[in-house]
Amino acid sequence: MSQSYDYDLFVIGAGSGGVRAARLTALGGKRVAVAEEYRVGGTCVIRGCVPKKFMVMASEVSHQLETAKGFGWTIEGASFDWKTFLTTKEAEIARLSGIYTANLGKAGVDVLQGRAVLKDNHTVEIVGTGQTITAERILIAVGGRPFKPDVPGIEHAITSEEAFLLHELPKKVVVVGGGYIAVEFAGIYAGLGVDTTLVYRGSNILRGFDEDVRAHLTREIEKHGVKVMLGCEHTEIVKTENGLLSRFSNDWEIETDQVMFATGRQPYVKDLGLENAGVELTESGAIKVDDYSKTTADNIWAVGDVTDRINLTPVAIREAVAFHETVYKNNPQRFDYEAVPTAVFSQPPVGTVGLTEAEARRACPGEVDVYVTRFRPMKYAFYGAEYRTLMKLVVEAETQKVVGCHIVGPDAPEMIQLAAIAVKAGLTKDQWDATCALHPTAAEELVTLRDKQAPQASVG
Ligand code: FAD
Repeated sequence: MSQSYDYDLFVIGAGSGGVRAARLTALGGKRVAVAEEYRVGGTCVIRGCVPKKFMVMASEVSHQLETAKGFGWTIEGASFDWKTFLTTKEAEIARLSGIYTANLGKAGVDVLQGRAVLKDNHTVEIVGTGQTITAERILIAVGGRPFKPDVPGIEHAITSEEAFLLHELPKKVVVVGGGYIAVEFAGIYAGLGVDTTLVYRGSNILRGFDEDVRAHLTREIEKHGVKVMLGCEHTEIVKTENGLLSRFSNDWEIETDQVMFATGRQPYVKDLGLENAGVELTESGAIKVDDYSKTTADNIWAVGDVTDRINLTPVAIREAVAFHETVYKNNPQRFDYEAVPTAVFSQPPVGTVGLTEAEARRACPGEVDVYVTRFRPMKYAFYGAEYRTLMKLVVEAETQKVVGCHIVGPDAPEMIQLAAIAVKAGLTKDQWDATCALHPTAAEELVTLRDKQAPQASVG
């Protein structure tokens, strides 16, 4: 490294991608600093995956209480206290953030608190401190921010960022959006006893997911207390004496005490000084990178949500690792975006990996075999509850490779992480079937699927 720079690597953003890249590079003997404008850990730890999962866990207890009664337990006086939950959640998030900070310190990374802005392609300024730092290389890992559409009264609506910190749990809520965050929060609220309506302007929730998954999940979340209103959108939000009045394009209106918009996220590039360093954006506003996460500026790279490839924590981490291998270990690596498993922590949850049926029909040259089963898990059948699980395998007929696996039901995310090994490895349906079932489980259905399903009318 040229000693004329303060650091070998300067990382902007101590989230999933930034922390991993900073630690690996410092452990490799380089001089590394990371700037963080909010809290170390980033979206995932502070206001994303982790607190969201705690909220899902809290909410799911209500369904477990129902099941408990079905199994003969007497539950009296069960109630939920939001403030207790919030305090415990905050303490746990602080503990986790502390571990991230300590690990950065142990690796020898300097952590600078404050907002970093690019001055040129070797220089950043920490806003408000007058501090200017130079580095041989810069990694941008600033993540994304929620997007709210331009609707009259939108300032009264919250996003997921505020939802994690509400002092009071609303009694009645409208959640807007059809993506995974909207569906997850609708489930969280409904499970916690909040009167919940999910409003989405499209024809069904979870665009991009398999059609069978979308249809099945809509039915199941309705059984779990979420009212789903499709094909309409807000025309305005009006503050009233009692709360917030939402008016919609189909002339429907509803008064609630909270309106939450989960209508997508955008790369957080505003006022980052990208133009000072020659870092270009894509048409959709993400930082433009090549397969190795290099930006259009020579010594600047970008990973994670700010590049808007697949916006998930493990992907940001893998991109950071690939950056480190490529730049500091002379081992050019690109992350492979195929067969990335993903979950929706709705109630019930979704786990999915590989191609949807529609994608497979477009991608596979020949026929596609589809195996689907819908059944009542034994836990629910026991006491007569009507909740159903869906499992679906999508198989390329010619090679018999299982190219997609989709599950809606209890433990779907846990199952799909393991199924993803088989899909990623390109195993065939025969190889899945040669695997002995583990009884009695729901997962055993995945290795005993026999009957092919006719193509869905909705699948083109
Ligand atoms: P981030 O983790 O967002 O980190 C960016 C960091 O940079 C932040 O700490 C920010 O404060 C900081 N920063 C920004 N600008 C500056 C600046 N100029 N100077 C200094 N610091 C700056 N993913 C999953 O895999 N599973 C899930 O279940 C899941 N659930 C989610 C739930 C919600 C509600 C949300 C919002 C996201 C969820 N995600 C989930 C997505 C996941 O959180 C992101 O994909 C991941 O955090 C991206 O990592 P990153 O490093 O790109 O950015």
